[in-house]
Amino acid sequence: MKKHNFSAGPCVLPKSVMEQAAAAVLNFDEGLSLLEISHRSKPFVDVMENARSLALELLGLEGKGYKALFLQGGASSQFLMVALNLLEKRAGYLNTGTWADKAIKEAEIYDDIYEVGSSKNANYNYIPKGYDIPDDYDYFHCTSNNTIFGTQMKNFPNSPIPMVCDMSSDIFSRQLDFSQFDLIYAGAQKNMGPAGTTLVVVKEDILGKVSRKIPSMMDYKVHISKGSMFNTPPVFAVYVSMLTMQWLKDLGGIKAIEEENEKKARLIYSEIDLNPLFKGYAVKEDRSNMNATFTLENENLKETFDAMVKEAGINGINGHRSVGGYRASMYNALTLDSVKALVEVMSELESKA
Ligand code: PMP
Repeated sequence: MKKHNFSAGPCVLPKSVMEQAAAAVLNFDEGLSLLEISHRSKPFVDVMENARSLALELLGLEGKGYKALFLQGGASSQFLMVALNLLEKRAGYLNTGTWADKAIKEAEIYDDIYEVGSSKNANYNYIPKGYDIPDDYDYFHCTSNNTIFGTQMKNFPNSPIPMVCDMSSDIFSRQLDFSQFDLIYAGAQKNMGPAGTTLVVVKEDILGKVSRKIPSMMDYKVHISKGSMFNTPPVFAVYVSMLTMQWLKDLGGIKAIEEENEKKARLIYSEIDLNPLFKGYAVKEDRSNMNATFTLENENLKETFDAMVKEAGINGINGHRSVGGYRASMYNALTLDSVKALVEVMSELESKA
């Protein structure tokens, strides 16, 4: 039986993408596997170019001075790379969770960081608002979706300085004016593909302004000049990301998936709010459409609920240890039917209790 996979990432991918990826492992080009061809061969160079242009197309950023790169080292390497490439004097960071906090720690290696706002005092169950961004700083950094705590920025500030955003857990999930950001990065392993590559979309004119020497592998300009092939790229991860972006485009792009994502989120949050046995973790106005975090009002029901969840073929809803309870991650490829299956178990628990 196929599981209802609510994993926080790596996570569910579209079935058609899995099938194409599996086929390419056996035979990608004239009897050769995707895993054994040269990354400099024409078929793979085409994959890389297609992936880069699909990313810009889906985000509506074609012809606007942006470049898309598929790098390695995860989103975690971007915490460092952003600072190396952009931080000269000082930067402002919005601290909305564990990942934002880690981004701040890495940037602090290079300079003082100013936290423009933080929700650490409430264990990150909300998004700070009404903060000021100093206009003489190098850049402002935020995290659009906080995977662990289940909060999501619904509005972005009108930043007077370049805006950098970690979109690892909600890229391609909702319509935004992506041109308000100067640099976007996202680990592939949620809405884009398997683990192993990180999408970076950067407006070229913000680069080349720091005085430090940047190691080649850490330098966005080097990767841009080599068409994201400065070194051997993670061919499988880039190929599967390309397939997933193509799948999204064929569905109708971000607009179409956003409607689905809203239906899924409405369904789970209405159950959380109506069912007296559960309590939402994040404050309502900041709830994430990707990761719904909730707890049981009565911990004694945990064993029963967990057994029912398992019986229904539901996977991956245990909450992160820093929040506890449960987290239902509902990325693009998770179907509404999977959310219905979870909601059914939640309401069945109410009728049993
Ligand atoms: N940022 C966010 C918002 C994340 O959810 C994660 C991983 N879950 C990361 C950064 C770190 O990503 P990686 O493991 O690819 O370094």
